[in-house]
Amino acid sequence: MGRYVGPACKLCRREGEKLFLKGERCYMAKCPIETGRPIPGGQPKRRPKISDYGMQLREKQKIKRTYGLREGQFRLFFERSAQLRGVTGENLLQMLEMRLDNVVFRLGFAPSRVAARQIVRHGHVFVNGRKATVPSMLMGKGSVIEVRDREKSKQYASAFVEKSEARGIVPWMSLDKEKLKGEVLHIPSKEEIGSPFNEQLVVELYSK
Ligand code: SF4
Repeated sequence: MGRYVGPACKLCRREGEKLFLKGERCYMAKCPIETGRPIPGGQPKRRPKISDYGMQLREKQKIKRTYGLREGQFRLFFERSAQLRGVTGENLLQMLEMRLDNVVFRLGFAPSRVAARQIVRHGHVFVNGRKATVPSMLMGKGSVIEVRDREKSKQYASAFVEKSEARGIVPWMSLDKEKLKGEVLHIPSKEEIGSPFNEQLVVELYSK
């Protein structure tokens, strides 16, 4: 199945919470979740009781949509995280966080993960001194991510770095704002990721 190309806000409305898919607008009062727009198709008169399976499925959809993955890609990430030592749910979140597009977004070089994916694909990002155009590439401790030394690339990223300053830099990365260069200091713990999701429900869903 292809990537979802419909309205991003509809996905948040479906889940009834903010998934931060659109950048700046997500932090404004006009975000449809803030204004209380109902779920697509209208608010049901009586909210049906949700089954365990339904809860697991919704949680998976939220995580998958937040990181902008297709079903197959997400499943692959899950399977890889299940093979690693440690807690599968936590491994999954860590792997998703270490994707290049997410790291570019966390550094503030782009307003959203979708935009970050775009600038990676278009060759505006270098990893450890080499051009990197694969958004799913996994970063590791010590990976150095920088914006390509080209005026157009720098202009784009610096505009967002300024804007995203209020959001702050995550504790597991360092950022040189002048050089538009960041480094992964360590793999983030679950607490540092600060995920609002219950990843254990995804583990339960895929363990059936
Ligand atoms: Fe979701 Fe952002 Fe749209 Fe709000 S503005 S509904 S957080 S994508």
